[in-house]
Amino acid sequence: MSGKVLVTGGAGYIGSHTTLLLLEAGFEVIVVDNLSNSSLESLRRVEKLSGKSVTFYKLDIRETDKLLNVFSEHKIHSVVHFAGLKAVGESSQIPLEYYEQNIYGTLSLLKAMQKYDCRRIVFSSSATVYGDPASVPITEDFPISATNPYGRTKLYIEEILRDLAISDSKWNIILLRYFNPIGAHKSGKIGEDPQGIPNNLLPFVSQVAVGKREKLSVFGDDYPTVDGTGVRDYIHVVDLSDAHVKAVQKIDNLTGVTTLNLGTGNGYSVLQIVEAFQKGSGKQVPYQVVERRPGDIAECWADASLAKKVLGWQACFGIEDMVTDAWRWQERNPNGYDD
Ligand code: NAD
Ligand code: UDP
Repeated sequence: MSGKVLVTGGAGYIGSHTTLLLLEAGFEVIVVDNLSNSSLESLRRVEKLSGKSVTFYKLDIRETDKLLNVFSEHKIHSVVHFAGLKAVGESSQIPLEYYEQNIYGTLSLLKAMQKYDCRRIVFSSSATVYGDPASVPITEDFPISATNPYGRTKLYIEEILRDLAISDSKWNIILLRYFNPIGAHKSGKIGEDPQGIPNNLLPFVSQVAVGKREKLSVFGDDYPTVDGTGVRDYIHVVDLSDAHVKAVQKIDNLTGVTTLNLGTGNGYSVLQIVEAFQKGSGKQVPYQVVERRPGDIAECWADASLAKKVLGWQACFGIEDMVTDAWRWQERNPNGYDD
């Protein structure tokens, strides 16, 4: 299958990997990104890796007129929508900015799509919509809730998309709920490039290993888990991206709203990740245990069997690949795309 896919936020971490895999699968890719949390260098590297070119527009998805121009210039088959703000802590400090960028941005995109009769969208949702789940593994029918503005934007956008599908049966919408994406492309050329102090575990661990930060703070070791530290379902970003390619390939047959968990089904604790990283990188990762981080839950992992059934997709990479690939990217690009 081929055709034109519009990727919003395609210069970012997950977007750049997905753009690469879409190109390799034979799609033409158009990226729109305001580069607020990314660099064009990621797409230059995607072009080198794939030997194909990406059509890029620097724009903010809230600028509907500019989006409309993109739709008028290209006959777009489907949209993969990553663009938005994603820092949980920051979202509590500047909630209006999160609602505006994530929700208004999505409304602007949907209006442009509607105008050009493009009604196929794959949306980046998150396991955060499960709040503090009553049990694990989590299936898609678990109750959803949010504990911070970032999570609420995901929840509301899911609801908006459900309303849209009810209002018009011509929409094909796939909500992908990511668990914890980590790792990088095996080439070491593209990866996660967080600005400032990383919020997420893996980038922080990588920066400690490369000597940019002194030690990791482990947020609590008194959870009811295997070793007291938080347990998550880490998924390789290339596996995650592959699910997007399969979603685009199958979307014509998936009318209405399809909601899928993207995880491996395995949980790892913070200390297990530190140990795996040390083994994979040969570097020490000093750490100290500190207070729990407010809002964190004890454990969370996916039942990803529905994604297998619907998309024929399942995660292939194990934790060793995830940490080794994360380390290769970090070691070769200690300052991210600035190098
Ligand atoms: P990222 O910040 O690397 O990528 C987002 C991209 O969107 C960036 O390139 C940024 O410049 C762009 N962008 C932001 N606001 C924009 C706007 N208004 N207009 C145009 N471009 C804009 O983040 P990521 O980790 O690649 O995440 C992609 C998506 O997946 C986000 O929607 C995020 O909420 C979601 N998600 C991420 C994770 C994770 O752990 N990384 C987990 C669950 C869900
Ligand atoms: N974590 C940690 N130290 C850090 C960052 C994260 O101990 O500097 C823990 C966090 O408490 C959670 C796990 O690592 O148990 C994953 O956190 P992350 O922020 O990467 O993802 P989340 O699941 O919170 O979205």
